[in-house]
Amino acid sequence: MKIFFSPKTQNHSPKTFISRGHVIESPERAERADILRTAAKNAGHTITEIFSEHHHSALDIHDEAYISFLKNGWQQWSILDGSSKEIIPNVHPGRNMNANPSAIVSAAGYYQADTACPIGEKTWEGAKASADTVIAAASYLLDRHKNNEHENFVYSLCRPPGHHAYADQAGGFCFLNNCAIAANFFLKQGLTKIAILDVDVHHGNGTQGIFYERSDVLTVSLHGDPSEYYPFFAGYEEEVGLANGKNFNINFPLSRGTADIEYMRVLQKALRKIKDFKPQILIIALGLDASEEDPLAFLALTTKGFLELGKVIASAKLPTIIVQEGGYISPILGDNLTATLKGFENNR
Ligand SMILES: [Zn+2]
Repeated sequence: MKIFFSPKTQNHSPKTFISRGHVIESPERAERADILRTAAKNAGHTITEIFSEHHHSALDIHDEAYISFLKNGWQQWSILDGSSKEIIPNVHPGRNMNANPSAIVSAAGYYQADTACPIGEKTWEGAKASADTVIAAASYLLDRHKNNEHENFVYSLCRPPGHHAYADQAGGFCFLNNCAIAANFFLKQGLTKIAILDVDVHHGNGTQGIFYERSDVLTVSLHGDPSEYYPFFAGYEEEVGLANGKNFNINFPLSRGTADIEYMRVLQKALRKIKDFKPQILIIALGLDASEEDPLAFLALTTKGFLELGKVIASAKLPTIIVQEGGYISPILGDNLTATLKGFENNR
């Protein structure tokens, strides 16, 4: 499979993560991409490295002031007396507060939903490179789709991931929403119906939020039950979209420990909903953290399960861009990626 990757994404490699009150090393580190890239290469896939920057308007899915915070916030933070090397918020606007002052400490709390998205000196470069990667992959796919090429699928090795990022808020290791940027790219190029299927173990809350009132992008997510798992405050079955977007958002929360057989049953159900929508392009938000061995484990997919997942997704026979989301370091992280890609290719 054709793979796009930007070495510049490695400019972002967060150091800290707070888990159950402990400050630990962030699981979303640059090494993840090295593992995924090496595994893909060893399995015979072709990797195209992206070096140039895109200034595509697809990025306008994000709020201008938020982009400015991502670009310039670290500079302001770094001149604060005694500030750390990464912006980590220690105060957030509560449910009963409405002001939004410009001080950098409050901006951090306003634009960063949690402590899992530290911003370092080069975070913007890394996040932008991740978005550049998805635009390059989307552009490649669109050309192939227009030319009716048989091989109408591509994998975008993105990191940092994107699906927890809202139009104006970072969260859960994510800054720019790569899948939303891809969908926006296709729409700007004249397509009218896009589906995003999120199989990351965490609910794709940012993606849901961005398209919640729209009917041109169907958002479907399979994920660990948010009543006991991140992102907690979104991802429930009754969240079906609003206004024009009503019935264009579908959530499938899954119980802790859900394994291959039950997972595939629900995935088939999700695929049927997507086929009924008749999208021109399918975007897969591929988290590999549904793995039984993921350090953040909640579900229990095996490597064979990922092979099956690839097969099921391919069975939709839609032009498909697979976008890397989560999936953290375990002995089988690379195998889970290559199994997914193999399952997909074998069924096309
Ligand atoms: Zn995840």
